[in-house]
Amino acid sequence: VARARRIVIKLGTRVLVNDDGSLAEEHLAAMVGSVARLVQASRQVIIVSSGAVGLGRALLGETHGLGSGARRLHAAVGQAQLVGRYSQELARHGLLSAQVLVTEQDFEVRSRYLALKETLQTLLRVGVVPVLNDNDAVSHGARNGAGSAPERAVFDDNDRLAALVAAKCEANLLLILTDVAAVYDQDPKKDLTAQPLLRVDEPERLLDQLSDGTGSHLSRGGMRSKIEAALVAKAAGCQVVIAWGRQPGIVEQVAAGAEVGSWILAEGAQSARRRWIAYAAVPKGTLMLDAGAVRALRRDGASLLPVGVTRVQGQFKGGDVVELLGPDGMAIGRAWIDLGADEVRAWCDGVPPEHGLNCLVRRDYIVLRSTTCREEP
Ligand code: GLU
Repeated sequence: VARARRIVIKLGTRVLVNDDGSLAEEHLAAMVGSVARLVQASRQVIIVSSGAVGLGRALLGETHGLGSGARRLHAAVGQAQLVGRYSQELARHGLLSAQVLVTEQDFEVRSRYLALKETLQTLLRVGVVPVLNDNDAVSHGARNGAGSAPERAVFDDNDRLAALVAAKCEANLLLILTDVAAVYDQDPKKDLTAQPLLRVDEPERLLDQLSDGTGSHLSRGGMRSKIEAALVAKAAGCQVVIAWGRQPGIVEQVAAGAEVGSWILAEGAQSARRRWIAYAAVPKGTLMLDAGAVRALRRDGASLLPVGVTRVQGQFKGGDVVELLGPDGMAIGRAWIDLGADEVRAWCDGVPPEHGLNCLVRRDYIVLRSTTCREEP
């Protein structure tokens, strides 16, 4: 975390906007001061800022009869104010800012995503601080998952936007600033013994708890979407810290590696085992996968199942590393496999090994090549 060179900082509405809808000027100014000091220390910062809708609502007042159009209006008005304040504050530190508004589709269509990535990288290279937000002014259709995914033009929340930006732009750290100090093991509002988790080692398990109802406290303050976002960033090798945004000096503390907030650490970034699989080991065979398996590995970080393997080549043993090929024969990554080639062939032909495994290779033992389109649908 302390060595992270490219940092995405996500600021939630409740960090920037007061309860009465006004902009929390002093927090914004302090935050921008911290960002400026990081940039002056040769670190690259992308800000993902919420707050447009809240600010616009306060400025315009209630707009009756517009339905979902009200949000678009609020966003359009609020965004102008918001980005204006960022520009002013950054200018005090001699920095230029750039407004970049995106939609979920900008990450789904490869040409748009490549353009976005190039723009952000160039801005960072020339020392400009990009300030991103969802382009809520063009939002249409249902939100919050009620619409089918292809129809969803906007992000349900900026946590996901920030995570996708962090993943696609190869950021080393995603700092999600919110109105709670950390991820807790229990509901801190109900249980005084609730402990903040400095390390969230198994974020997937927390999400499972949410589904079975035992982790309902996590949904408060949108913690669920933060953990889901963290999983996206983590899978791309980006460290994630979730912390209280109004704590003075929080950005600098986190960037210096101080143990504040909750850390969700990326596997790819720190595991010697994965580095070994990826670079050191000599592959002893190949598994050719079908398109569905490639998609499941890339998009969902899934484990490899025998049903996805179309060809097994080589005489590898259990404990060897094998190359994974896509249906077109291109290498997509490597796996450290527990079974020998004959056992794998047998399983692919419908005869599973005797010692009940539930997958060919667990996700932790698969290292995918990073391609610019890792999460392309
Ligand atoms: N894009 C929204 C805004 O600027 C915020 C979405 C969110 O809070 O995650 O107000």
